[in-house]
Amino acid sequence: CGIVGYVGQRPSQDILLAGLARLEYRGYDSAGIAVIDSDGHLGMRKKAGKLAMLRDSLTDAALGDGTTGIGHTRWATHGGPTDVNAHPHLADDGKLALIHNGIIENFAALRAELEAEGATFASETDSEVAAALLGREYRRTGDLQQAFRAVVNRLEGAFTLLAMHQDQPGLVVGARRNSPLVIGLGEGENFLGSDVAAFVEHTRSALAIGQDQIVSITPDEVTVTDFDGNPVEAQPFEVSWDS
Ligand code: GLU
Repeated sequence: CGIVGYVGQRPSQDILLAGLARLEYRGYDSAGIAVIDSDGHLGMRKKAGKLAMLRDSLTDAALGDGTTGIGHTRWATHGGPTDVNAHPHLADDGKLALIHNGIIENFAALRAELEAEGATFASETDSEVAAALLGREYRRTGDLQQAFRAVVNRLEGAFTLLAMHQDQPGLVVGARRNSPLVIGLGEGENFLGSDVAAFVEHTRSALAIGQDQIVSITPDEVTVTDFDGNPVEAQPFEVSWDS
């Protein structure tokens, strides 16, 4: 339901939690975050219930001071509101994390295809299928952006997706189809959000992402392409004070 992504110089955990808090008004049943720590290890925590449940579990055991992360609030459509069904979903032996807003209409066929290859699933969600597919494509290509393009071209339905891989720290890749995603531009840091509320306390300089487009953010760079990888121009806009 709500999505936030961060790449920069600052520890991402609190930035993600604050972004999710600003997205709470949309309603949700679970929340989770993943962070690539400074040792290059991807850590993940997710909880059914209020954001406070997630925050409490992080008070005892934080995910570290890593500067790349993604966060999600879920409004369940496939699978009940449980810890396991919450996002992020992991793949490639826990090295890759993915979050999803929306509904993947052809998830059952994709899941059957992956299961035939020996994949197993922890959750009942449509979203974990996208994570598993991305893991498979990453193992084939060793490149998150290339893998991401292969995945979005297989998906039907409505989705905002964000993903990151611990072997490519400092990179968050996202895409949208029939579901919102915007970029927040900072100094030596960049943001992604399902709406500007996710990053408005950090920057008011934003880029709109069009339908069926992919975005990659690093601390210093933003690249937007179509689903085939052709570069496209993103529309800059200023977030107004009352947003
Ligand atoms: N369909 C996904 C799920 O049920 C995502 C729901 C959402 O947009 O939060 O987990």
